[in-house]
Amino acid sequence: MNKVAVITGASRGIGKAIALKFATEGYNIVINYRGSEEKANQVRLECMALGVDALLCQGDVSCYEDMERLMKTAIDNYGQIDVLVNNSGITKDQLLLKMNSDTFMDVIDVNLKGTFHAIKAVTRIMMKQRAGVIINMASVIGEIGNAGQANYAASKAGIIGLTKSVAKELAPRHIRVNAIAPGFIATDMTDILDDKTKENILQAIPLNTLGEAQDVANMAYFLASDQAKYVTGQVINVDGGMVM
Ligand code: NAP
Repeated sequence: MNKVAVITGASRGIGKAIALKFATEGYNIVINYRGSEEKANQVRLECMALGVDALLCQGDVSCYEDMERLMKTAIDNYGQIDVLVNNSGITKDQLLLKMNSDTFMDVIDVNLKGTFHAIKAVTRIMMKQRAGVIINMASVIGEIGNAGQANYAASKAGIIGLTKSVAKELAPRHIRVNAIAPGFIATDMTDILDDKTKENILQAIPLNTLGEAQDVANMAYFLASDQAKYVTGQVINVDGGMVM
């Protein structure tokens, strides 16, 4: 029987690359997305072309009921969830003096509360299985901060604390929980940056290039695999050496 991976925000960018990597390795894929239905369906077709089953589940990670429905969809169709990747994320950048509490909380709601919701919704299922892997998408910005990203940095630093706490709680049930902290990866999220900002970022990256979504997907697959069976509660940077 194929293993099953549930991936939030898998319609584009890093989430899409993770879906295709796990499909390549023989996982059935549950693709969550919020608004990009056409793109999500394209990912579904690409996964199925790799010889596995894949299905879509629209849902907003900031809504707990949507995350319960996401896990139920996976269980109803496949009977198990081996891997949950909490990848969905947004930015709403603004300097602190201009940032109002709505802009702050919008990012916390999706990035941090959304990750909490999906973990909470999957935990009982994985505890019953006495097995499972959870991978949360943090960011180097959660480790070092960034001007104009107080909301995003706080959400990603929160994900790191959440990852470590849940890893401690769930280790006795053989559930591993880790985070990946990407640096600057070429996706829609970084495409909106102007050339000057991109140039400055490149100067801070020892490997002197933006990362690819595939680089993060490869790390997610490693963390999900038995190659990482003794790894839990860790934050693994995929950042070209940006933070060391
Ligand atoms: P992206 O290209 O903007 O894609 C974001 C994905 O998240 C989309 O699939 C989007 O779905 C989904 N999403 C957004 N809000 C959602 C919500 N409320 N509920 C469910 N899904 C939602 O972003 P990316 O660059 O691939 O980033 C993926 C993750 O990596 C994020 O957590 C991001 O913070 C993190 N990260 C990225 C970088 C980078 O340089 N790109 C660096 C560090 C960390 P729809 O398309 O349907 O809206």
